[in-house]
Amino acid sequence: MKNFRSIKGTHDILPEDSYKWRHLESIVHQVCAQFGYQEIRTPIFEQNKLFSRSVGEDSDIVTKEMYSWEDKENSFLTLRPELTAPVARAYNQHNLGNLSPIHRFYYIGPLFRRERPQKGRQRQFHQFGIEAFGSNFAEQDAEIIALAWHLLTHFRLTNKIDLQVNSIGTSECRAGYRDALKQFLKPHFDELSEISKRRFNTNPLRILDSKNKKEQTILKNGPRISDYYTKDDKEHFNEVKTYLKAMNIPFTINSGLVRGLDYYTKTVFEITSNELGSQDALLGGGRYDSLVETLGGKPTPGIGFAAGIERILLLINEENFKEHKPVPDIYLICLEKEGIPASLSIAKQLRLKGLNIVSDPIRRSMKAQMRDANKLRARYVLILGESELNDNTIILKNLESGKQESIKQEKIVKYFDNLTN
Ligand code: AMP
Repeated sequence: MKNFRSIKGTHDILPEDSYKWRHLESIVHQVCAQFGYQEIRTPIFEQNKLFSRSVGEDSDIVTKEMYSWEDKENSFLTLRPELTAPVARAYNQHNLGNLSPIHRFYYIGPLFRRERPQKGRQRQFHQFGIEAFGSNFAEQDAEIIALAWHLLTHFRLTNKIDLQVNSIGTSECRAGYRDALKQFLKPHFDELSEISKRRFNTNPLRILDSKNKKEQTILKNGPRISDYYTKDDKEHFNEVKTYLKAMNIPFTINSGLVRGLDYYTKTVFEITSNELGSQDALLGGGRYDSLVETLGGKPTPGIGFAAGIERILLLINEENFKEHKPVPDIYLICLEKEGIPASLSIAKQLRLKGLNIVSDPIRRSMKAQMRDANKLRARYVLILGESELNDNTIILKNLESGKQESIKQEKIVKYFDNLTN
């Protein structure tokens, strides 16, 4: 019979890596608390329309990447391909805007996109992200970017990354720019790729995202979105830049950065790393001042970003995780079947004291268990052998110093009490 394997583009996270995930996640919780962001958890699947309406009918996600199915009662459901729309949906559903003028959320969880799998690109991947609702001021944009920067600083990644920012203005600005861009591209239409030809009609700004060298060369002489900013767009973007400079966060302006989703307005940004190869985006986000309204809520400005956890983990140096690998405090060796009740009782009492106790459930030899204890980097070994059973003692060995002593069984819990206090 054929063995089962995980689905293409999905991965198991084995114990040799899961502790790194846990550490990264604990830093996300910590950093988000430092900035006053609170965790939100939304369901893995949502109505299909939530995404087509917000992310955009013409986006890659909606046109080809969503895992969707028709459920009973004629409902059309989708495994979430991103989390901004679900968070905005929850914000509306629970009328959170009535409770407080601002809400700042973060999330950690899996996402699903049917993309061609390759290094750094999976079909089930994980993001952490933040979303802030209620402020249209530039200091909110700066705070969002600062949080991303702070987290990456924690993992000593700032010398491996580039922050690019742009403003794509409000819809008023984009309408003027869209016309100008189409005018400019018209004479080059035949030189465009098939996908750009299609976008020429549906969403010409997306052509700016193109990685096609020829199109990039053509676009070099094209109109600039900055020439179409309204006074407010310009002011907002200038303030964002000023605030980033005030925090010494280095950035470059990339006027070609539009990001692929329909809901963005004004500030958009991306952090990339050239150590990641072709899938170089670590994190991306932007302002979405009309999203909440698009989804049926009261007009509420918002801004956020999403970061790929797999890609961040690829960049973090192993050194950062070394001391976070869980190790047993005590490896408890019991060499006699008659000693098992006593060893189980000792383990129970020590665990109640908060210690991590590992024991061997397959009755291996003393040598094999000692090897295991060393491999797991246990701090102490407790040994219950025949003579210890006879005189109610237990041997305690400190694996760091190699020192060994015999202790009365009833004193062992107290012994570790003194050690841990
Ligand atoms: P996006 O929502 O497309 O802006 O993605 C935000 C971040 O999620 C990216 O910068 C990547 O780090 C990560 N990401 C997006 N798609 C994938 C994928 N298919 N596999 C792994 N990571 C991804």
